[in-house]
Amino acid sequence: MKTVIHNIFSLLLILHASHAAGQQYRFSDGLYRVPYSNGVTASIASNVWSHSPLGCMDIIAQNCTDCGIVAAAGGWIRAIRDFHNTSCGGSSCCPEFNNFIILEHPNGEWSSYIHLKQNSITNLGHEIDDWVDVGTLLGYEGTVGCSTGQHLHLEVSRPRDRTNAWDNYDGVLRRHGELLNPVICSSGNGMFIEGQTYTAGNCSFNCATSLNLSGNVTNSVQRADNTISSTAVFSADGTGMYRAGTEIVFTPGFAASRGVMFTAQVKTCNQN
Ligand SMILES: [Zn+2]
Repeated sequence: MKTVIHNIFSLLLILHASHAAGQQYRFSDGLYRVPYSNGVTASIASNVWSHSPLGCMDIIAQNCTDCGIVAAAGGWIRAIRDFHNTSCGGSSCCPEFNNFIILEHPNGEWSSYIHLKQNSITNLGHEIDDWVDVGTLLGYEGTVGCSTGQHLHLEVSRPRDRTNAWDNYDGVLRRHGELLNPVICSSGNGMFIEGQTYTAGNCSFNCATSLNLSGNVTNSVQRADNTISSTAVFSADGTGMYRAGTEIVFTPGFAASRGVMFTAQVKTCNQN
């Protein structure tokens, strides 16, 4: 018997048994671009599986001096702080001096951009509750707050309560919701891999027309214009996100083991 997802927006399947495995991060529902100005080469210093604390990302721009940080997806600005100019790290970490800008996206997910250069957000005229399109310049990469070098600390979350989605102390989302692994729209594998570089640009990935998937996977993002058909087997504690424009078909053999967090959406490949 086939399980077919058709004409529904989304299926969320969370198979969560109690076990002692490491924490896992569900893929975002929304699509996110590399959050730097077009053409910037962004190096992933850590991703959700390696950042300390887990669930966050550190990204370093490589081929720019004043490196523009842009909205990873369209949203409303819900918080700005950019008056600090103190940098510290390691044992003298001072997160209370973080600069940050935080966006709420229409699908209920939020993103926070931390350590930006002093005054670089307000100098652009940004104000709380302004709407910014994906790719809008938000400010410039810095090393302000708990940071030892130029980089962007990025978090994406789904807050438990949108009226209390972030922490004014340091601008993080992680104490107020579920941290997510953002699906990166311009990348074939759809996720940030530590040690890899990504060229910032628009969300215009050339998706396959249809995909027939099989084999053992742990973490897998797959997008197709029309149909995804899958007999893939997700190993324990894996994560997955399928998105196809017409239908997603789970044929016999598809399996998601203990702890897997898997999402499927019938939605156009690059639509946010
Ligand atoms: Zn960080």
